[in-house]
Amino acid sequence: MCHVVGQAIERAIERRQFLAGLGAASTLVLGSPASAKEMEEQRKRINASQAEASQFNTRLILLGTAGGPVFWPGTNRHGIASAVAVGDALYLVDCGAGAGRRLQEAQGPSTNGIGVLRDVRALFFTHLHSDHIVDYPALTLFGIFDGSHAKVPLKVFGPGRRNEMEPVFSPAGAAPHDLPVVNPENPTPGTKDMAGYLYQAFATDINDRIRDNHRPDPSTMIDVHDIELPEIPGFESPNKTPEPEMAPFKVFEDDRVRVSATLVNHFPVWPAFAFRFDTDDGSIVFSGDTAVSENLIRLAKGADILVHEVIVADWVRSMFPQPRSENDDAILNHLLSAHTAVEDVGTVAARAEVSTLVLSHIVPGNASNEDLAPAQKGFEGKLVIGEDLMQLGVGRR
Ligand SMILES: [Zn+2]
Ligand SMILES: [Zn+2]
Repeated sequence: MCHVVGQAIERAIERRQFLAGLGAASTLVLGSPASAKEMEEQRKRINASQAEASQFNTRLILLGTAGGPVFWPGTNRHGIASAVAVGDALYLVDCGAGAGRRLQEAQGPSTNGIGVLRDVRALFFTHLHSDHIVDYPALTLFGIFDGSHAKVPLKVFGPGRRNEMEPVFSPAGAAPHDLPVVNPENPTPGTKDMAGYLYQAFATDINDRIRDNHRPDPSTMIDVHDIELPEIPGFESPNKTPEPEMAPFKVFEDDRVRVSATLVNHFPVWPAFAFRFDTDDGSIVFSGDTAVSENLIRLAKGADILVHEVIVADWVRSMFPQPRSENDDAILNHLLSAHTAVEDVGTVAARAEVSTLVLSHIVPGNASNEDLAPAQKGFEGKLVIGEDLMQLGVGRR
């Protein structure tokens, strides 16, 4: 999520007392804890979904369903992460805060925490915002201890370098100013770079584990790839044409699954991908973070399940109440232009002709089901408001 989301979150947290006083906006209040009854109902829903899905060969497993670089108060949603299970093989999409723990919970007593990565064949990053990658070091570094290393290498696929600095966002009237640049020799690293930097950052730990505990070098467990883009007619540069019209292209294939990708519109972050998983049983598509995207609609055409990000636009607007300055309007529009409003996601699902729409990467992470209900607008298929550890089966039982 762009930094403006961070500003909105800070404002939201500062303003929660104020919002609580608004009454009408009470469903948008941060930090309102779920009641014991609500939590019990949620637990039953999740258990029922797991029991139902266990009869299927291909399953969607939601590990974490909140978006944004924040530990949302008043919810048990963890950071965005999902898995596709095909038989006993697992494929992960994104790795937000808590993904490792949620993966262990999803595996249940079958692992008892031993080797959480053991069935994971590949991990796919939609983009390199922290809320999608922050648990990656934990999976990697803990994986050398919990037995995971015995069954890997794990394949990792994610965006390559942007190779062009993004423009400075400047709300109406505000002058651009000099901003610091982190890691100036490579200010827009890709996934391979990130993995390499992590080994450097954790060298003290890794060298200790190798010498003192005779653990493997984690870099030998993981096979990291930057996703190579095909030739795209009309593509000029990340800043000029972030989402050029394109056909989906293949990223990965094994005996269980074929994964294809397309560029979506999460400007200024680039590349930002959506992924489609096709198995013998059916298909599951992940939007990644995006505004309403024609490429995504093309990728998702006819899929069984579309897992789509969503932002409660009323919540964002509540951060910038009327009367709004031109500056506020500019920030508000900038924020909403990188994500899909809950009122718009149903139309995306309808246009893609998917059977089931699953909301995940929910912002704010503590939005109520009532806040998310408008996602049904324009869509006659099945709407599922995603919850951590919920599972859905696809195709044959
Ligand atoms: Zn995100
Ligand atoms: Zn993002």
